[in-house]
Amino acid sequence: MAVDSFSAKARKISADIGAHYVDNARKLPWRAPPGGDRPDPYHVWLSEIMLQQTTVAAVKSYFETFTQRWPSVESLADASEADVLAAWAGLGYYARARNLHKCAVYVSEKLNGIFPQKESELLKLPGVGAYTAAAVAAIAFGERAVVVDANIERLVARLFAIDTPLLKGKAEIRTAMDAITPKKGAGDFAQACMDMGATICTAKNPKCDICPVQEQCAAFAAGNMEAYPVKPPKKHKPVRRARFFWIERQGRILLATRPPNGMLGGMRALPDDGWAAGQDGHATPPIAGEWRVHENIVQHGFTHFSLEVDLAVYQDGKIATDRDREIWWPLADIAEAGLPTLYAKAVKWKLKEET
Ligand code: SF4
Repeated sequence: MAVDSFSAKARKISADIGAHYVDNARKLPWRAPPGGDRPDPYHVWLSEIMLQQTTVAAVKSYFETFTQRWPSVESLADASEADVLAAWAGLGYYARARNLHKCAVYVSEKLNGIFPQKESELLKLPGVGAYTAAAVAAIAFGERAVVVDANIERLVARLFAIDTPLLKGKAEIRTAMDAITPKKGAGDFAQACMDMGATICTAKNPKCDICPVQEQCAAFAAGNMEAYPVKPPKKHKPVRRARFFWIERQGRILLATRPPNGMLGGMRALPDDGWAAGQDGHATPPIAGEWRVHENIVQHGFTHFSLEVDLAVYQDGKIATDRDREIWWPLADIAEAGLPTLYAKAVKWKLKEET
């Protein structure tokens, strides 16, 4: 496409998406209305960290819980990491929660509780990557930053029929997003594009009949909207095996705190065979005795592998252990233990099996 016609198309897309947002913005608890006052940077940062790899619907209740319990970055910094991890339980990708807490401590202690405004400075914060830095700079501080999340990636790839497969295609998508991002109002524009991707230019069955940029859309013109963004060929995911240990005594089960580094680090969980380090699910039980093994009770998908979990059960009224990092947790309050989803699934399976 010639440079002039590309610029003209970019300007038209920018104006049409911006105009559409004024009346169609989603109302979300961390947002300010279009053109209104800027939202609280703490809210924007918190929501953007929560929204990585997670849907808006799943995030809403966590956001409300976090902001009620910790209404400022300083109060979040004052919380213990264990409390933050427990409150995060169920959202997944727990490294985010540990970095969230680290970042809160950093902003509170080193920056007097004030988030930096520039994308380049935000990038230096723990757990803040390119996407989050751009989103916070644009949405909370009005900086002209180019924001590209998965929804925007899909929208832009379709508008410009960018057929270079991801991940390579990301650079082209970013260039196109840069071209349509206005000088002023980059935050509203980014949120307008996120909304378009989430509600109109959806992965399956995009609603092109109500799309404000249908006339400008190259994929629509070619009738192959769902071909974009072009995905790389799927890699086969390896399967790992794990064994969890259910050790029960007088209405309580034994939980362990996972080592601070590594997968699900620092979270409370059932004792296990060290699967995160590549074990094969056949470890020796931590206590000698009569174990009942239930095979393959839970399958769980991680980004780079799938896990099949066996549960080994030992129930005895008199077991005693006093190892570090272990706690007898009342089964009646297991929902409050803040177990990661993988372990919560195993607990749910066991409790159901008993009924
Ligand atoms: Fe997406 Fe369809 Fe709009 Fe193109 S016309 S941007 S494919 S919703």
